[in-house]
Amino acid sequence: MHKNEIMLQGFEWNLPADGKHWNRLARLAMRLRTLGISSVWLPPAYKGEAGSNSVGYDVYDLYDLGEFDQRGSVRTKYGTAAQYRRAITVLHMFGIRSLSDMVMNHRMGAEEPETVPTHLVNPANRLEVSEETQDTILYTHFTFPGRRGRYSSFEWNSHCFTALDWAANDKDHHLFLIDGKSFAGDVDGENGNYDYLMGCDVDVCQPDVKRELIKWGLFYLRHTGVDGFRLDAVKHISAGFMRDWLTALRRQTGRKLFAVGEYWSVNLNSLLWYIGETDSALSLFDVPLHQHLHDASVCDGSYDMGSLLTDTLTKARPDLAVTFVDNHDTQPGQSLQSFVADWFKPAAYGIVLLRGMGIPCVFWGDLFGMPYISMKPVKELPGLMKICRKYAYGDLFDYFDHDSVVGFTRLGLKRHPETGLAFLCSNNGEGEKRMFVGKQHAGRIFVCMHGHFPPVKIDQDGCGTFRVSNRDYSVYVPKVSFFTKVLALFGWH
Ligand code: CA
Repeated sequence: MHKNEIMLQGFEWNLPADGKHWNRLARLAMRLRTLGISSVWLPPAYKGEAGSNSVGYDVYDLYDLGEFDQRGSVRTKYGTAAQYRRAITVLHMFGIRSLSDMVMNHRMGAEEPETVPTHLVNPANRLEVSEETQDTILYTHFTFPGRRGRYSSFEWNSHCFTALDWAANDKDHHLFLIDGKSFAGDVDGENGNYDYLMGCDVDVCQPDVKRELIKWGLFYLRHTGVDGFRLDAVKHISAGFMRDWLTALRRQTGRKLFAVGEYWSVNLNSLLWYIGETDSALSLFDVPLHQHLHDASVCDGSYDMGSLLTDTLTKARPDLAVTFVDNHDTQPGQSLQSFVADWFKPAAYGIVLLRGMGIPCVFWGDLFGMPYISMKPVKELPGLMKICRKYAYGDLFDYFDHDSVVGFTRLGLKRHPETGLAFLCSNNGEGEKRMFVGKQHAGRIFVCMHGHFPPVKIDQDGCGTFRVSNRDYSVYVPKVSFFTKVLALFGWH
């Protein structure tokens, strides 16, 4: 039986900047395997502007994975290049794939200024660009003095960027479009055009920049052994570029190279539009689902649970959805803070892990806790991951049909009568629901994993009436004898 996949986001924002995280992950590999983790999204491994304190999204040098004395240290926040490669090797030894976090949208920390003709842009409507040019002093020349051309001699200067929001000769922050450049058209439409996010915005459509980024991708795969990518901030990156970059890497390596993009929008149509523009080259994180889970958790019972899956990627494109409850941006204190409240977190993980629509991604901070902001681990999470691996198989029947008590069932696999489940959750009051678990389970007993409720006997129609407590969740699984399992394995029902 092919086991369900579970992805782990292998970090949270406030990990200590002790240079020990790659080693920590290598040490944890066996435990991660035991927990059922099949792939780990590793944080950005290259040197950021903040050197050894950088979480990794303020990219300075894509080729410095903790190998060169730049930005104040050789190592990154997480360790050295050698430790990174070793962690990936150790994870492989335990059958766990690694996804690297690729940040291609912007750069920070250039050493040298250049005088560049620019146009002022209205930040609230980037389609409004001033006619006149002005000479501006921009920090756009990256010399990478510690690397001295190793791995790549490509020179990054103003020619490689479209826009910046800071000039050395300007007292205020303005948005400067470099003369002769234009924003990519196939990006998110917020603020008129959302190509620009921060730092030196990389002109990914410039042919030599595009070639260099493909060359870097191939170097990265060869040099590190990663199996796929988490692509940062894709709503600010040309969809056509993203498609071409992935296609080139897949073609040249002959590998499948799983890729999931972060397109931070609660608007399903925006996500579907990007998927369409990239010819379905990448999966996306299901941000609308995260938003529903968050809203349900903070609404104190008034949220309509029947709308939990409305306009989500898990419903619209389960084949390209990566579902998650929280991440390093939604955790308390971060830029997109929308942390799912404690009481609802296990139920939210139940929905993400057990429905089987999309790949579930478990957040490090939920699995291991976040001591730096006094957050404890979600203690039910390892149990839910186990249920995912053991029982969450077969066809799905959704019951998101009530404003406070909703659920779903999985029918299980024919040759594995011990698989299948019934899930319920409630945000307001105790409840029960009659749900279909499949005629093959008729006459069998389903037991409540919490032990809160008595076992349920499945009737001749393949249905049972399952119960849930107020502001809680419940999972029922089939109880079958060893004898039944063996008979089914050989096809003798
Ligand atoms: Ca951009």
